[in-house]
Amino acid sequence: MTVSITGATGFIGSKLVQRLYEDNHSICVLTRSKSKAESIFPVKEYPGIVIAEEPQWKDCIQGSTGVVNLAGLPISTRWSPEIKKEIKQSRIRVTSKVVDLINKSPSDARPRVLVSATAVGYYGTSETQVFDEQSPSGSDYLAEVCREWEGKALGVDKDVRLALIRIGVVLGKDGGALAKMIPIFMMFAGGPLGSGKQWFSWIHVDDLVNLLYEALLNPSYKGVINGTSPNPVRLAEMCEHLGSVMGRPSWLPVPDLALKAVLGEGATVVLEGQRVVPVRAKELGFSFKYPYIKEALKAILAQKVVT
Ligand code: NDP
Repeated sequence: MTVSITGATGFIGSKLVQRLYEDNHSICVLTRSKSKAESIFPVKEYPGIVIAEEPQWKDCIQGSTGVVNLAGLPISTRWSPEIKKEIKQSRIRVTSKVVDLINKSPSDARPRVLVSATAVGYYGTSETQVFDEQSPSGSDYLAEVCREWEGKALGVDKDVRLALIRIGVVLGKDGGALAKMIPIFMMFAGGPLGSGKQWFSWIHVDDLVNLLYEALLNPSYKGVINGTSPNPVRLAEMCEHLGSVMGRPSWLPVPDLALKAVLGEGATVVLEGQRVVPVRAKELGFSFKYPYIKEALKAILAQKVVT
């Protein structure tokens, strides 16, 4: 199939591009910066990939069978009022644009599927509740961002299959929260974060990429699907495993402040958290390669970082 992808240059998107490329799909990278995208996907290594800045997005989307929407300003930054506005607006702007271009495509050139990212922040945070796809939205800032972000994706015409993937904390060595947390764990010997009772709904990046891939190809993937592993853990357990996999004792607590220094207020995602379960993915028969945190962390830490 031919797939147009926003956020293709990011942590998750670049891995999805690689996966689709290896399977001989045609890819159009929808980016704000052609030069940045060309440095990530050099033509020598990725002949045939089309890279398009915004004025050309229309031509790409009109020729695509599927669109994946992953773009947005990273949340792991310091949240000034301007940044908070941009965290929300960047997602709303790109999603609105993508939906508008899909809806305006002539019927014979219209993508059949839109796979759009959102986040488990939709549910708000809780130490006691279990959230599945039917659970109501929370009342904090990130919940509001996710509702509005999803709301824009829901504007896609009904003849286009829409899969909304509510993504948990994505674990991989060369990006996302874990890459930033590892050096802190090295410094503080990998102890607990805060009370340690907070839930950590995580997913290995390879599983998420497989889920996005499946959502593109499989017509049964429709509506909201939680992109989290079937076994969320409390933060204390995650820290214990990370400490043990890194060969470091987990007794010296990692101060919240140290985590906030690298993740900004985006650290609240890790420090507060929610217990999210992937009911829909299980119903759909999705097979997780890394259902348990220890194996996921072992696999990630054994990887060499590709730069
Ligand atoms: P990255 O930050 O690695 O990449 C996001 C991409 O979005 C960038 O490559 C960039 O593409 C584009 N982008 C960045 N800033 C802006 C902006 N201001 N306006 C428009 N586009 C922008 O994100 P991830 O790969 O980690 O995540 C992909 C999506 O999944 C994001 O929307 C994220 O919120 C969501 N998600 C991720 C989680 C995680 O743990 N990683 C957890 C939950 C949800 P370019 O420069 O090419 O335009």
